[in-house]
Amino acid sequence: MKGQIVKIVSDDYFLDTSFGEIICKARGKFRKDNISPKVGDYVIFDNEKKTIEDILPRKNELDRPFVSNIDEAFIITSLKKPDFSTNLLDKLLIICEINNIKPVICITKKDLLSKTEFNKIKPILRYYKKIGYPVVYNNKICKIKRMFKNKTVVFTGQTGAGKSSLINKLDKNLDFETNEISEALGRGKHTTRYVTLVNIGKGKVVDTPGFSAIDLSIYTDEQIKNAFIEFNKYDCPYKGCMHIKEKECKVKENINDNILKSRYDNYIKFIEKR
Ligand code: ZN
Repeated sequence: MKGQIVKIVSDDYFLDTSFGEIICKARGKFRKDNISPKVGDYVIFDNEKKTIEDILPRKNELDRPFVSNIDEAFIITSLKKPDFSTNLLDKLLIICEINNIKPVICITKKDLLSKTEFNKIKPILRYYKKIGYPVVYNNKICKIKRMFKNKTVVFTGQTGAGKSSLINKLDKNLDFETNEISEALGRGKHTTRYVTLVNIGKGKVVDTPGFSAIDLSIYTDEQIKNAFIEFNKYDCPYKGCMHIKEKECKVKENINDNILKSRYDNYIKFIEKR
């Protein structure tokens, strides 16, 4: 039978199954093979012996939060206080792309902007939509719930962008506030703590605001380049073009006309900073 690990407490594995929550032990072979089951893992279990028999292949796995099989990440993006930052947004989009997670850009604090201020940001948001990223506003609670139906999702974004208040709006019984505070105070606490998957509506949400580690140095230049999904459709004459110093680079030729300049600038920054 199949289930998903939603919580781990010492050596008890809490599985979400078609007939409710079941607590299992992991078979000894996992330890022998040096495999540790993670929250998020889909597993095959023996209902009589209450043991996990097998872990199904993972779609992805993250270290912070320590979780696997994330389908979607809601990137909570504040327009003011903290100010809108394409730098952070692009970083989070890269992490999603590389880890095979579908990003959703979720906009908060639109009401703090004047019409003129919002009109400046509007074309930028429209650009992200055009290249294929869904953009949703945080007051569209039903729409957001629909978007993560039957999915395992993580809410991420800058501290103060409004992750906790959005999650509390999605489910009044949940309070993720304490997690956000502990994240701001010290990262160490988070690295060892197991996460839990919590049911919200018809989806499952990681109970900690992640990703706490926004470190691009672990990725190769090639991975970062490919994560700028709109660059990939340009056929540069130089094979393996990095779109930096190469001649007749189609990406560079399309900056401003078809490629948002801040996207290209961030790409260069991310590559050079490493
Ligand atoms: Zn190029």
